[in-house]
Amino acid sequence: MSNQAMQAAEEVGGLNFELGKEKEFLRQNVRALVEREVPREYARELDEKEEFPHKVWKALAESGYLGIPIAEEYGGVGGDIVDMVIVTEELAHRSGSIGLTFFMSSCFGAKTLQFAGSEMLKRKYLPLLAEGKLMFSFSLTEPDGGTDVLGAMKTRAVEKDDHWVINGQKVWTTSANVADYLVVVARSKEDVVKKADGISVFLVKTDTPGIRLRKLDKVGIRATQSFEVFYDNVKVPKDHLIGEKDKGFYQTLAMLNNERILTAALCLGEAQAAFEDALQYAKERRAFGKPIGQFQAIQHKISWMRTKVELARLITYKAAWLQSLGRDCAIEANMAKLVAANFACEVTDAGMQVFGGYGYSREYDMQRYWRDCRLHKVGPVSDEMVLNFIGERMGLPRSY
Ligand SMILES: Cc1cc2nc3c(=O)[nH]c(=O)nc-3n(C[C@H](O)[C@H](O)[C@H](O)COP(=O)(O)OP(=O)(O)OC[C@H]3O[C@@H](n4cnc5c(N)ncnc54)[C@H](O)[C@@H]3O)c2cc1C
Repeated sequence: MSNQAMQAAEEVGGLNFELGKEKEFLRQNVRALVEREVPREYARELDEKEEFPHKVWKALAESGYLGIPIAEEYGGVGGDIVDMVIVTEELAHRSGSIGLTFFMSSCFGAKTLQFAGSEMLKRKYLPLLAEGKLMFSFSLTEPDGGTDVLGAMKTRAVEKDDHWVINGQKVWTTSANVADYLVVVARSKEDVVKKADGISVFLVKTDTPGIRLRKLDKVGIRATQSFEVFYDNVKVPKDHLIGEKDKGFYQTLAMLNNERILTAALCLGEAQAAFEDALQYAKERRAFGKPIGQFQAIQHKISWMRTKVELARLITYKAAWLQSLGRDCAIEANMAKLVAANFACEVTDAGMQVFGGYGYSREYDMQRYWRDCRLHKVGPVSDEMVLNFIGERMGLPRSY
């Protein structure tokens, strides 16, 4: 559609499913970077070796993509959530792990700091995040529960002289081994009326004395490792409190729609890759003297795969579009995560069936997509909590 036609459509309030030139250009460029920096064999090798792709991170920084969530005044390029969706989707199309790392560092790192951090923290860290010289990881979930994260939170932060002291244990802190800083959420006040009160968020240097990591062995998303993190009398300078003391949980709430939308974008990339591989395989693999794609049972599976990816993409981009305009997108963001995570699991499972026995072989990527996308039904938020949220938003009573 021409610019004039787009403008005309906007004026009459018509629908427009075009991304526009700039965003299409961004997509093509990220796709080209992925082809150049992350060949298929490399993505497979990273998964096998559980190795973080530092050179890809550097390439993302050099191309300016790590600066997308960061405002220009802090050294970024001031992109919107639609841009972040595009980058996440394209990275996840080759590797869910790389997509997840971009999403975690940009969403919980850059966005949290930009949203709630002091001017000093923003000036000091945001330009370095944009340049890829720093990476942040998010340390919220604890061993006793991630869904009832506040009820389960035992990590404590206590003020002492010119610093805070953190004691406790987290679990699943992803990329903690390569992150320079951890965004740590801890209880800073005991006697509170609501569980959400009395929580604070800190920016903690990963090599601070008292921090110890223990690696977890995961089924998928293996190129980015996840860790138990033990905090034993960890000292944090007072000026590394992010946002207001005791109000931290409300700050993290502000990130939730971004988190849902970007999780959906990860699922889109993984599901799209599974669909493309299955389509290609169905054209090449033969049985009974014909390509298996000639059998209706296989054709229908692949038609459903394409349909599910398209449906998930529509709600994901709608949620991102609403968010980029500053409109309420809470229901759509939750729907996007729900639909995209479930469809991605269905699509990759169908892909496994199309591949027959070779689907089960680690020489093909289908099993990796299948393993990777299973995470998104539970993390960073479970399907059940998303459904609870949608229920409540429709006026139904809270169920828990
Ligand atoms: C690979 C991976 C990476 C992760 N990365 C990070 C990270 O970087 N940082 C971080 O802080 N966390 C991270 N997480 C943690 C993730 O956010 C949690 O696993 C998730 O929130 C679920 O918490 P849980 O595992 O403790 O499950 P639980 O809270 O124990 O839930 C178990 C089951 O009970 C259900 N359930 C619980 N309460 C209700 C209810 N009220 N209604 C209906 N169903 C309910 C849940 O939906 C789930 O199905 C990661 C997890 C994984 C697996």
